[in-house]
Amino acid sequence: MLKTLLTGLLFTSCCAMSWLHLSDIHVDMRYKDNAPNKCVVWSKLGTMCCRDNDIAIGGSEPCSKYGDLSNDVPPLLVTSVLGWVGDNLYFDFIINTGDDGSHKDVNQVFSNDNADSIHFITDALDSHFPSKPSYRVMGNHDSYWNVDQTFPGYSRFVADVTNPWKKWINDSNMGSYGYYSHDLDGRTKLVVMNSLFYDAHNLFQINDVSYDKATGNQIAWLENELNTSKDVLFLNHIPMTSGESNEYMKSALSNLTHRYSNTITATLNGHSHRSRFELYKVGGIYVSFALINPSIYTDGHYPMFRKYTYEEGVLDFEEYVCNISAAVETNNFTCTKEYSFLEEYSLTNIDLPNLVNLYERMQTNGTLLDMYITHYSPPELDMTIDYLGEIVN
Ligand SMILES: [Zn+2]
Repeated sequence: MLKTLLTGLLFTSCCAMSWLHLSDIHVDMRYKDNAPNKCVVWSKLGTMCCRDNDIAIGGSEPCSKYGDLSNDVPPLLVTSVLGWVGDNLYFDFIINTGDDGSHKDVNQVFSNDNADSIHFITDALDSHFPSKPSYRVMGNHDSYWNVDQTFPGYSRFVADVTNPWKKWINDSNMGSYGYYSHDLDGRTKLVVMNSLFYDAHNLFQINDVSYDKATGNQIAWLENELNTSKDVLFLNHIPMTSGESNEYMKSALSNLTHRYSNTITATLNGHSHRSRFELYKVGGIYVSFALINPSIYTDGHYPMFRKYTYEEGVLDFEEYVCNISAAVETNNFTCTKEYSFLEEYSLTNIDLPNLVNLYERMQTNGTLLDMYITHYSPPELDMTIDYLGEIVN
């Protein structure tokens, strides 16, 4: 009796964890409030406005100190979100699925902007949460020199930006290639991939086994990690079905996430900036899923983030939204909990059967689908998106 009780107590304490999940922060270290929010764009590399010397175009308004719905975010927004989180939420650790870097122009080639953005986020997390481990993922904007690229010199860049993360992560692959694994509690392991090597826009993309072997051998490493783990949270910036995922990554991940679907508790992605999930089919049968975290970067919507809980095999998240228009009006920065996923959609877990069930109910229940659409990218409501169609891949 005593033994059963003790085992029960130990199990309870060993298998409950919670984390703050941030993604796609895209902080612009040269953001200037009151600069024009619509400006002359010099190239198609992804230039944003809200910078000194930007030349206003028609319809432009001054960028606010907390950010602008169509531009990269100021450092003040990041510290305001972290300040609010620190005052209001409890969690064990932090996950950031990448893209700290901002959308920049050709001048990115001649600057340290990407490294500066990543180091700023590292310092901000450390100063707000000095005792909470943070586990980071390299995104396609956390690149060298320019967006989506791993030019020669990228390994030096990776070593530099990941160096301060070593206090939380002990894996030499992180400093060399930006991928790593980390045992959270003796049972659940974080397996963290660097998808930039397989970005279809990357001039140096890895697109076959021999190139992969010569450049960190990441897919073989990933397979070995999945093969030797019991319970994995798989973190990867670019979802495997994204247009930026090259055929080599798509086929490798489709194969591995299917074969190890019992080992992978959840795949957590960023990159899309929207609050979404995806289901993957092989031969007409659902085999795996991914949860896509919304971005702190405004990209038409308010900054958003999640707090996950994983307890006794049950995964859930709460989603938070920070209304920056209200913050500017009242000069009071605050975020609000929008919903808890399981409660909102009447589910018992975030796993493949529950997500398939939700997808199928949304096909016939307009109210349920409206809820999903409302949470996708608030306050933006884009009715041209095929919300149901993009779930199944
Ligand atoms: Zn992004």
